[in-house]
Amino acid sequence: MANNNKSFVWHPFTQMKTANKPLNIVKARNVTLTADDGKEYIDANSSWWVNVHGHGNEYIAKAIQDQFEKVDHVLLAGVTHPKAEELAERIIEILPSHFQKVFFSDDGSTAVEVALKMVFQFWHNQGKPKRRIVALEGAYHGDTFGAMSIGQRGYFNQPFEHLFFDVDFLEFPSKEKESEILKSAKKLFETNEIAGLIVEPLVQGSAGMRMYSVEFLDALVGLAQDNNVLVIYDEIMTGWYRTGELFAMNHGHSKPDIVCLSKGLTGGVLPLGLTVATDKIYEAFLDDLKIKALLHGHSYTGNPLACAAACASLDLFAQPHTNLNVKRIVEKHKLFLEKIKDHGALTEVRMQGTIIAFELRTEKESSYFSSIRDEAYSFFLENGILLRPLGNILFLNPPYCISDNELDYCYRKMEEFMDKLL
Ligand SMILES: *Cc1c(COP(=O)(O)O)cnc(C)c1O
Repeated sequence: MANNNKSFVWHPFTQMKTANKPLNIVKARNVTLTADDGKEYIDANSSWWVNVHGHGNEYIAKAIQDQFEKVDHVLLAGVTHPKAEELAERIIEILPSHFQKVFFSDDGSTAVEVALKMVFQFWHNQGKPKRRIVALEGAYHGDTFGAMSIGQRGYFNQPFEHLFFDVDFLEFPSKEKESEILKSAKKLFETNEIAGLIVEPLVQGSAGMRMYSVEFLDALVGLAQDNNVLVIYDEIMTGWYRTGELFAMNHGHSKPDIVCLSKGLTGGVLPLGLTVATDKIYEAFLDDLKIKALLHGHSYTGNPLACAAACASLDLFAQPHTNLNVKRIVEKHKLFLEKIKDHGALTEVRMQGTIIAFELRTEKESSYFSSIRDEAYSFFLENGILLRPLGNILFLNPPYCISDNELDYCYRKMEEFMDKLL
């Protein structure tokens, strides 16, 4: 029997038989989480990478409260409401000019499902169905079936693999393999069977904050678009200044046809997913035939409270202090990276914007199930830092309001943990 047998909660990504008792968080303010025993923790991974402005943000709270007094929830089919309209318009304003329409859903995985449906139906509606998708090895796009299909195959999804559709995986584009991978991509794209390409631009999150070059991304997208392959950017993790720019796509000159947004969109306060499409995509669904429409939706599609939180979050992104905080974190990460890069416990330290990742040396290959993971998790908890390593990869992607002192404390403990490994 599990040791938390008084609880009825079945936890995500958790072997309930062997798991330790979960932390019971009773208060969250800024970057501080307080447990029921009064112990405080720094939320060093932004509560699964979503909480960008810090917890308990009063501006977002007020926006949600105000919205609740106006409209709590309505369906979005045949009905609209001002916050959905405002959010969609503001999203279009901050994206490159070829984006035109915003489709609402509930979280990252559903935003990806919608993107996949848009891509497959785009071709279907024109009577030239294409059935294959190209993705990168190590990809993570969510845990629903379509999203699993285009993600890394292996341990996590083995029981379901027989249900997945056809995906061609390109090797992860480490520097020395870039040109070889571009060659394989070109061959695939030229078959004319590829409906779309999906990538996490510049940083593969769940694969261990693996990073690749903007030159590769631009070249890959260029090849895809030259061959009529639709391009989806999954910016669910990379969006909202995580990579230093508002979106990862802002680093490069290639632009996708579809972009998926979620996580930091609402400041990490309410679930919401957006799939944003260009006119070219949208127009393929316009027809006198109703079955050519995008026949997809969720009960909570365009929930007004979530839209209000997202609009408030956009206000906060536009304020100078957010940008200053992002720049400050980037500069501090850089200094720490320089200091730590030759540490004997590391095979690599890498950063992109506000994400800094430390790949710990292990006897075996990097793996999510590495035993260092549990050791690290406990060490940081004992030291008042909540972080969730990806196997032997530790990383910091804190809320942007983290103070210099808090960040320095995280770095210090990181170094202390690495020293222990020597
Ligand atoms: C988290 C994540 C998703 C899935 O989002 P959920 O809200 O957890 O369903 C998809 N893609 C990327 C890149 C992510 O980081």
